[in-house]
Amino acid sequence: MSTDVEQRAAGRADRAATRPKKSNGQWKIDGREPLNGNEVFKAEDNGLNVRARIEEVYAKSGFASIDPDDLHGRFRWWGLYTQRKPGIDGGRTATLEPHELEDEYFMLRVRIDGGRLTTEQLRTIADISNDFARGTADLTDRQNIQLHWIAIEDVPEIWRRLEAVGLQTTEACGDVPRVILGSPVAGIAADELIDPTPAIEEISRRYIGDESLANLPRKYKTAITGHPSQDVVHEINDCSFVAVEHPEHGIGYDLWVGGALSTVPRFAERLGAWVAPDQVVETWLGVTEIFRDYGYRRLRNKARLKFLMAEWGPEKFREILETEYLGYRLADGPAPAKPLTEGDHVGVHRQADGKYYIGVSLIAGRASGTLLGQMVDIAEKYGSTRLRTTPHQKILFLDIPEEDIDAVVADLDAVGLSSRKDLFRRSTIACTGIEFCKLAIVETKQTAADTIATLEARLAEIDLPHPISLHLNGCPNSCARIQTADIGLKGQLVTTDDGEQKPGFQVHVGGGLASSDRDEAGLGRTVRGLKVTADDLSDYVETLVRRFLAGRSETET
Ligand code: SF4
Repeated sequence: MSTDVEQRAAGRADRAATRPKKSNGQWKIDGREPLNGNEVFKAEDNGLNVRARIEEVYAKSGFASIDPDDLHGRFRWWGLYTQRKPGIDGGRTATLEPHELEDEYFMLRVRIDGGRLTTEQLRTIADISNDFARGTADLTDRQNIQLHWIAIEDVPEIWRRLEAVGLQTTEACGDVPRVILGSPVAGIAADELIDPTPAIEEISRRYIGDESLANLPRKYKTAITGHPSQDVVHEINDCSFVAVEHPEHGIGYDLWVGGALSTVPRFAERLGAWVAPDQVVETWLGVTEIFRDYGYRRLRNKARLKFLMAEWGPEKFREILETEYLGYRLADGPAPAKPLTEGDHVGVHRQADGKYYIGVSLIAGRASGTLLGQMVDIAEKYGSTRLRTTPHQKILFLDIPEEDIDAVVADLDAVGLSSRKDLFRRSTIACTGIEFCKLAIVETKQTAADTIATLEARLAEIDLPHPISLHLNGCPNSCARIQTADIGLKGQLVTTDDGEQKPGFQVHVGGGLASSDRDEAGLGRTVRGLKVTADDLSDYVETLVRRFLAGRSETET
């Protein structure tokens, strides 16, 4: 005989089974009725169409003429976000309406697929920075360059200059395929397994700006690498291809799907499929179309591909990909081996052709129009015309002759670009923070710069085989990947012992992605109460590092 409790539970289960299932807003299952404001504006007019209005109306009539749906929605499809009004402290971020936080100037993101830049292109960005962006320029942790203080009146001229040298801002933001991360040493590294450049270029040429993929449930991130250091943070992208050797078929790619951080971090999962080089583009298209057709659109905070992967699992995902989208089976394949070298490429490295590439650290990705121009001058002085941005806010100078290495290193040093394997500078990244971001609660870039300077002075005697990664975020989002750092810092207001609210961080420790010093990716852990004010950050990190060094075993990283 069942108890009352069991009967009530059975009744609840029956009711749940007969209750109509709430729609997740999956186009292929639930139809295309828009279920929230974002879906409405996307359905009403594709984001790509706003370009004509910017060129023909808004740039001529000024900021006040911009339709709010365009301003806060479709502008992103062309890499434009309004920036934060100066002088509004982080305590007011949550209390003000978005329009009260918003300035009449824009951040403009230049997408650099695969991080590939010529000196002509970088010179163009430097000039745009100086002419239209008050000299601002930041290297992002997705191989882009972001400019600030852009007035709407200047956008058409900026596009004209960028496009004249083969750059674009198309789909740099928005619910679209964002910049394609690519190995920064694609096609040049002596130890590369395969050059992913043809796949990156074909995806970019055929599908960036393609209306059929310009209304995805949310942003969609791609990464492709042929380098054994696995240098594109593949575990936290929606769709990644990582070079691997198949025992029968040779070199191809291992397919990973459904990774993303933000406030609900989830690593991508392997589908166990080996993708031949000539299958990469159609496989990428299939995964992207699955996201478009089956991705959740009801709730925006559940709309990333990781939530669909969490429901389906890799087996079902692969089955749908092969049967409904590709029309053929992919070969089963092995996982890539653990990386043996660091994927940030800092330092001097030999290329396959006998020349060298030099990877340098900026401080938390901060550059300027002047500095970008100096980079071009240095590269060209030594006969190089190629540079690469990286997913670690670094930049690489390619094609340096062996006899010029010392001179190039010295010239780079003279403008503040370090090719040394510095303990903190090399592995500190920071998001935009309160200087320009409307969601920010705390400042990040200057805090990172101050912390690096203090720690490198105080811990100068320390020599570790691996750098210590310090990632600073200005709010609970994870643009600078807090959960995958040795020390991840999530911006928030912190209440001090005397009850004062000060800018600070919640601390995550022990995270990391695949690298030479750990077997697999792991999320940093946070402990309730583990918080530090920005003012105390250097002291805190110094204590943490000294305690770790005092207590670690010989092999512990
Ligand atoms: Fe802005 Fe937050 Fe992203 Fe930093 S982590 S750029 S503050 S949204």
